[in-house]
Amino acid sequence: MNKNRKEKILTIGDGIASWCLHEELSKNPMLEVTNIAKNDLFIPCSLNTTSINCLRGVEKGVSPLGDRIVDSFKTFEHFFDQQNPQGVYQGCEYQMWKEDNLQKWQKRYSGYNKINDNPFLSSLVKDYKFYFSNNAYFIDPLKLKQWFRSRHENLIHFKEGIVLKVDNSNFVKTSCGDFQFDRIIFCTSRHTRHLLSDDVDQNFLYYLDHSKDVAGSYLEINIPEQSFDFKESFNLVFDQFHCIYRKEQSVLQIGSTTLNRCALELAHEKQLLHIYDYIQKSSFIELPLFARFQQKTGIRHKGFKRLPFWGQISANKFAICGLYKNAFSFAFLAAKEISRSFD
Ligand SMILES: Cc1cc2nc3c(=O)[nH]c(=O)nc-3n(C[C@H](O)[C@H](O)[C@H](O)COP(=O)(O)OP(=O)(O)OC[C@H]3O[C@@H](n4cnc5c(N)ncnc54)[C@H](O)[C@@H]3O)c2cc1C
Repeated sequence: MNKNRKEKILTIGDGIASWCLHEELSKNPMLEVTNIAKNDLFIPCSLNTTSINCLRGVEKGVSPLGDRIVDSFKTFEHFFDQQNPQGVYQGCEYQMWKEDNLQKWQKRYSGYNKINDNPFLSSLVKDYKFYFSNNAYFIDPLKLKQWFRSRHENLIHFKEGIVLKVDNSNFVKTSCGDFQFDRIIFCTSRHTRHLLSDDVDQNFLYYLDHSKDVAGSYLEINIPEQSFDFKESFNLVFDQFHCIYRKEQSVLQIGSTTLNRCALELAHEKQLLHIYDYIQKSSFIELPLFARFQQKTGIRHKGFKRLPFWGQISANKFAICGLYKNAFSFAFLAAKEISRSFD
């Protein structure tokens, strides 16, 4: 490659993976970065998500996935401390359980407490006996996207278009024209498989072929602040069901469902009703009527063995995908590690 000219990079996708990647790539003056995405056709999961970052008792040295989760969470926290991004708010997640499944939670959360000893939780929760409180970051994805975009607007060429075909030599056909790039980074989540040329590494294809689409639905409603007078954002987790209050957005969310091998962008109303009823029965919170909530659905990409992927997939191609339920921390580490290949 001619070192006197800038290297032409294409990033595809407009979700958390690409937002974080642009932050790192835009620091390198030798790169000319173009981004192409088509969000009204391929709806990003990053804008249909309950987006919380929280360690939930995960520690290093237990599994490769746990190590990635901890390293990514620390990378995210460092970014938060340094940059104070808009759309990220601190609060608390309370994992709660009843006596009968104590062992499962006791193993994960050794420093747990009794709900009876906590006036805040006692005023909100019925029947549950134990809890563990986690520091959590509540992310407003649209606000975070806008914050990132304002930082990159003059550094990256943003184009709206469908990427139709990418060949071995990085010639790219799109609905907004045909282009040649030096290197391409796919931030296209579950759509990545359909875009690949045949020079791509077989191990990556195996990974994608053993990854799954997992649909997730949740309920969301705007709550007048006077009716929900709490000091900070919180997530009450009743075993596996979440009741999320976002103070800064005045929003309440309830969910979420997990439907394996499903890419239907239509909410699973029956399961949502079940979760809503369960939370209503288990709490003193006066929930708005079920019919008043908006039903939202995002499609997660669950990588092979639940592991995320980021790295090189052919001589001049890279990918970030399989971010599943930890995307809002994985994406920060993925971006840092990939961008090192461009130094
Ligand atoms: C209910 C629910 C709750 C969740 N809770 C959390 C949570 O608490 N914490 C957490 O970290 N994660 C959570 N997640 C997961 C998280 O939201 C996703 O893993 C994450 O948003 C994926 O980001 P991404 O950038 O990889 O992909 P996406 O956001 O899906 O972006 C993919 C991009 O690729 C583009 N694209 C694809 N194909 C093409 C093409 N051919 N041409 C042009 N553009 C294309 C799309 O338009 C889109 O912009 C949750 C998900 C759901 C559904």
